[in-house]
Amino acid sequence: MSDHLIPFACAGRVVLVGAGPGAVDLLTLRAARALASADVVIHDGLVSDEIMALLPADARRISVAKRRARHTLSQPAIGDLLVAEALAGHVVVRLKGGDPFIFGRGGEEVDACRAAGVPVDVIPGISSAQGAAAAVQMPLTHRDHASIVSFVAGECRGLAEQNWVGLAGPGRTLVIYMGLSGAHQIAEKLMADGLTPETPVAVIERATRDDQRLFRTLLADLGGIIARAKVESPALIVIGHVATLGVPDTVLHQLVEAVPCPLS
Ligand code: SAH
Repeated sequence: MSDHLIPFACAGRVVLVGAGPGAVDLLTLRAARALASADVVIHDGLVSDEIMALLPADARRISVAKRRARHTLSQPAIGDLLVAEALAGHVVVRLKGGDPFIFGRGGEEVDACRAAGVPVDVIPGISSAQGAAAAVQMPLTHRDHASIVSFVAGECRGLAEQNWVGLAGPGRTLVIYMGLSGAHQIAEKLMADGLTPETPVAVIERATRDDQRLFRTLLADLGGIIARAKVESPALIVIGHVATLGVPDTVLHQLVEAVPCPLS
């Protein structure tokens, strides 16, 4: 039995927990056990209500949800909060969507704890790319289609300076997190780098949740489909031939009434 399966001692400590992409039963057993032992939970906005329901009733909950262009707490302030709560003797669960180390700033939080001499553990979660791929049965690698997969952050800020050359193209899958608002620029950037406008793309919104939606189109229409379907965050963009695989698209005509079409 590893240390992690023994309930955490009462001394203060921080546990970074990956909450997975949304569905409660995609939590790891280790994550569920850590949640049950929490005195304080510091969580992001992407964590679902079903997962929050697993916390002990008396655990203190602190939201540090970030919205684009409106940060409730800066990253250093989150680090300070984790450290202060742990030094006060609490078991602090830092609950993050997906995996803490994939675009989760988990590395900075681990550093903050270590710098302060606070014990810290990391429990991985299913990243949304993996959750989404499974949910729509779209393999990110496939012997016939792609043997390389890359994850990139598609936030508008700094997009122009990033070098994505070679990340997308034949035999490759590119998964873009946080790419909705920059989708048009992303398509332009990839085409400027030599990708053909006919490259298949898919957009997966709220993957693994009951109201998830999937859309496919060609690269030149990436911004177009996101606008027409009114895709909202959280969503992932998949670029490459694997985007043609998997379950059928959400039926677009249903979107006229903005009716979500659950995939079953
Ligand atoms: N650490 C997280 C990613 C945080 S960045 C992980 O490993 O998944 C936040 C981005 O993740 C969102 O903007 C979106 O691109 C993606 N995301 C998170 N949950 C998602 C979901 N259920 N469906 C689709 N994309 C999701």
